[in-house]
Amino acid sequence: MASRSPVVWHKSLRRLPLFNFSSVLDRVRLKETPKKVYKIFLEGFVHDLYTAFIDVLNICLNFCPDCGSPVVGQKKSYTGSMATYVLHCHNGCTVRWNSQPKVDREPLGNILIAAAILFTGLTFKRMSDWAAALKLKFISQTSIQKSILWPVVGEAWREQKRAIREMKARRGAIMLGGDVRCDSPGHNALYGTYTLMDIRPNAPNIIVSMELLHSSEVKNSHHLEPEGLRRCLQDVIAKKVKIGTLATDQHLIVGKMMREDFPKIDHQLDAWHCSKNLTKKLTAKAKTKGCEALMQWIRAISNHLWYSASTCKKKTLSYSSK
Ligand SMILES: [Zn+2]
Repeated sequence: MASRSPVVWHKSLRRLPLFNFSSVLDRVRLKETPKKVYKIFLEGFVHDLYTAFIDVLNICLNFCPDCGSPVVGQKKSYTGSMATYVLHCHNGCTVRWNSQPKVDREPLGNILIAAAILFTGLTFKRMSDWAAALKLKFISQTSIQKSILWPVVGEAWREQKRAIREMKARRGAIMLGGDVRCDSPGHNALYGTYTLMDIRPNAPNIIVSMELLHSSEVKNSHHLEPEGLRRCLQDVIAKKVKIGTLATDQHLIVGKMMREDFPKIDHQLDAWHCSKNLTKKLTAKAKTKGCEALMQWIRAISNHLWYSASTCKKKTLSYSSK
């Protein structure tokens, strides 16, 4: 391990949904509503969201929002997570009050809930069970993901491709972090998605390449990771983008493949996986008889590994001496 200095890379890779972007998303086009939603995501939406109890809302809506007179009649309804009140006041106004802003005719909160589920790789069923347990008004299984969010993700994907073309135009090598995500943990995965991300400091963390593999395409599921990486690297090389450094986990076949097939790329190990593997080994050791005292040191050892990796300025000697 000491022979290679580690590079710390973006953990958000691990949260990407298992999804083959290029095949589906190239085909979806941006219509009016998705265009507005894309802009909201780009600018970052400025509103904080709260959970409001209905009794508390009722107190706020006792008086007319237009003229301040007492409300004499109200009717409430829901559209997914949005509450709508129609208020009649003593002064004769009729006011319609929505708990969310709308994008065209769709409540923004409903879009954001669908987006949060899609972008974190959760399932709708889990989240709707969670909301039901809370008695939280929630979206039903709608077409929002397909009609609005897929085009939004498609546009983001095209934007990243434009960034890759710019990368190619600029000279100099890039630094990549890569990892696989499989549909099930352990040794019997059916699908794996390999992702390469640009991890240069101060660079936008764009996805440079992504490959979806089925386990029947390789010898066994252990080979999903090296084969996915090989295809991603070949894709990047075909785009004529120069790769300087690649950081991956300590996968043995990956290490061998990088040495033999891509000797020009500086292959490094990422500190997050180093720390995870070391902690796992130390924890197992500490559970054996006579080694119990080790347990209280594990956290400190892992912290020191992180400290050494982040302060060694990529110098192996400085890293191992720490
Ligand atoms: Zn009024």
